[in-house]
Amino acid sequence: MSTDTMRERYSRQMLFRPIGPTGQERLAQARVAIVGMGALGTILSTQVVRAGVGFVRLIDRDIIEPSNLQRQALYDEIDAKEGLPKSVAAKEKLQRANSDVEIEALATDLTWRNAESLLTDVDVILDGTDNFQTRYLINDVAVKHGIAWSYGGAVSSYGTTAFLRPGITPCLVCLLGPEQGGGTDTCDTVGVIAPIVSIIASLQVAETLKYLTGNAESLANGLTYVDVWSNEFRRIGYPGRNEACPCCGQHQYRALQKQQDALTVSLCGRQTIQVRPDSGRTVSFDGMAHRLRQVGQVRYTEHLLRFEVEDVVMTLFRDGRALIQGTEDPSRARSLYARYIGM
Ligand SMILES: [Zn+2]
Repeated sequence: MSTDTMRERYSRQMLFRPIGPTGQERLAQARVAIVGMGALGTILSTQVVRAGVGFVRLIDRDIIEPSNLQRQALYDEIDAKEGLPKSVAAKEKLQRANSDVEIEALATDLTWRNAESLLTDVDVILDGTDNFQTRYLINDVAVKHGIAWSYGGAVSSYGTTAFLRPGITPCLVCLLGPEQGGGTDTCDTVGVIAPIVSIIASLQVAETLKYLTGNAESLANGLTYVDVWSNEFRRIGYPGRNEACPCCGQHQYRALQKQQDALTVSLCGRQTIQVRPDSGRTVSFDGMAHRLRQVGQVRYTEHLLRFEVEDVVMTLFRDGRALIQGTEDPSRARSLYARYIGM
């Protein structure tokens, strides 16, 4: 981008003194990865792309559904109708907002196999996930490779966020223990309203901007808890780093070392099971569509193949991963997969 275009586009951000032209230049050189492109992810990505962060990687395993539209601000009714992968639809829209940013869209889930290759060439990892399994994986990669990351979670009307810097702040395991932290509420059971998501995601981006522009002294240095319904806004200062922490003290990366792939995972918010066979194959949609047309309705694009059969809709990705919509029973999802796609 020419200096003039840059000056104009980012003029208000550069007028903000702590950022200024130097901070803007740093943002242009910066790289972030966003894990999860749901409610948090759509806001995280919109703000970092518009702010001019040079490289943004979007990672999400899901497709867009009508129930997402209430809070997932980047998507619209056409996306939901087409059932596009979230990362792909998001990239298209974000690129229109800022064509200077390099955006990479990955329709995949983060696992111990790919986490280190997808998260270690960035300056900050932004958590837009809805589960602690993935957060512990992010924490392992962040601590092992010394990468800052922003933890964020929101359900119901409340949320928590913390900006974690390996070696400086506690890590997620220090804060929440080695097992699943947080409560048992999920957006499945107690729902979620859009305002809390916007606030948590905005706090995550504010911390990220401070960090990337060389303003680390302004970081919150603690967990922030907000409840927009009971009008609470609390800062909980970090405890001292725990040298006995299995992760950042003892360097045991349990989530990474577990090397376990759950064959099935039920996705938050709806009757959908993800099936991920451990085959590492690439699916040919042409061949698959030809075969499946004998038994059900099929359509496919370059990203996914959609197959309607019995009372379910199966969405197949090129890596063999599938989302089975219309069931909450993992064993039924597995058997449908085996029957129609083949293990
Ligand atoms: Zn720790």
